Amino acid sequence: MERYWTIGDCWLGCGRTGVQVLWLGPIQWDGWTAPFMACAPCLDRLLAQARAHWLRGLRVTTAS
Ligand SMILES: [Zn+2]
Repeated sequence: MERYWTIGDCWLGCGRTGVQVLWLGPIQWDGWTAPFMACAPCLDRLLAQARAHWLRGLRVTTAS
């Protein structure tokens, strides 16, 4: 899946606006859709959390 950086607002909690952001996908809630954008530092934080989650899953898989 190709991803493109653009200039916009970060939706991941840092509150920065007008920065380079990456589109991560749509947020869908109660029938509404919005673009989910994240800046590089927030994306790093999110990916570190996701990697920890994936690694926990691998450990559970190999232990069983
Ligand atoms: Zn951010």
